[in-house]
Amino acid sequence: MVQSMTKTDTRDVRATIEQIKELEDCGCELVRVAVPDAEAARSISSIKEGASIPVIADIHFDYRLALMALEAGADGLRLNPGNIGEPEKVKAVALAAKERSVPIRIGLNAGSLPKAADPKLTVAQRMVDAALQQIQLLESLDFDLIKVSLKAFDVPTTIEAYQSIAGKVPYPLHLGVTESGLPGKGVIRSAVGIGTLLYMGIGDTIRVSLTAHPREEVIAGYEILKSLDLRQHGPVLVSCPSCGRADVDVVKLAEEVEEQLAKINKPIKVAVMGCEVNGPGEARDADVGIACGKGRAVLFKKGKKVGVVEEKDFVVALMREVENMIS
Ligand code: SF4
Repeated sequence: MVQSMTKTDTRDVRATIEQIKELEDCGCELVRVAVPDAEAARSISSIKEGASIPVIADIHFDYRLALMALEAGADGLRLNPGNIGEPEKVKAVALAAKERSVPIRIGLNAGSLPKAADPKLTVAQRMVDAALQQIQLLESLDFDLIKVSLKAFDVPTTIEAYQSIAGKVPYPLHLGVTESGLPGKGVIRSAVGIGTLLYMGIGDTIRVSLTAHPREEVIAGYEILKSLDLRQHGPVLVSCPSCGRADVDVVKLAEEVEEQLAKINKPIKVAVMGCEVNGPGEARDADVGIACGKGRAVLFKKGKKVGVVEEKDFVVALMREVENMIS
């Protein structure tokens, strides 16, 4: 499942609901809200009235906020045990969550680990050890609605930690590479980390953390899943990189087509190819495609030529075929 986190002030209920709606519109399946104080915790009950997807409360430092968030109807809790403190406090939260059958994600971040018992352990090993301690604590309370995340900025550390914990516990894993940055490089970092783990069969929910509107996180999340054929979600654009053979501006054409495809939410594979020589062949498994020549282009479906169009009609003709196919 694709998760994101609102970037509004949780106490501003209207703005938070508005952002959750934007996330729902682009396919977000779980949303997390920051709970920095009591007012934010109490706001969850009103936020839930406007949200159609589960709302998870993100708690740091103060376990009482977790209790308040549960009271307010949070569908899940994310706790960072490293900064919650004594086991008694985690216990109090677990008992309240159990009463309501609300899952708790033990969310470890490499940057906020408890002190290492053994300084020789790697960061990944320390994350796993800390998570196992918390898991044992919850299990000792007969609480098993557990999810785990072990996020680091460093991709090899993230992969090592998740691989290790996946072999040790049966609980769902929430994947992420934390603080991965602005969309361009951050998406690559996240895709390498999350994608590698998913390819190994590890991971149940994902969040791409980006310094951007959370909509970007959801879009990137689906792109990772689509790249691995784990999900179909909206159109896929196949476009050639262009080269000296192209007689058209392939970049501009692909951008225009992508803009049009953004309005469609059905799965369809569309190809934009710069020449007729390799076009249909290179995009053989596309549902609909265009292979451009000088002033004209060949339209093709499933790799077979179905017509010829003039340059001024490239986008319109391609989109007409797309609409025909999905209607
Ligand atoms: S499809 Fe044609 S223009 Fe595009 S990269 Fe291949 S050879 Fe070059």
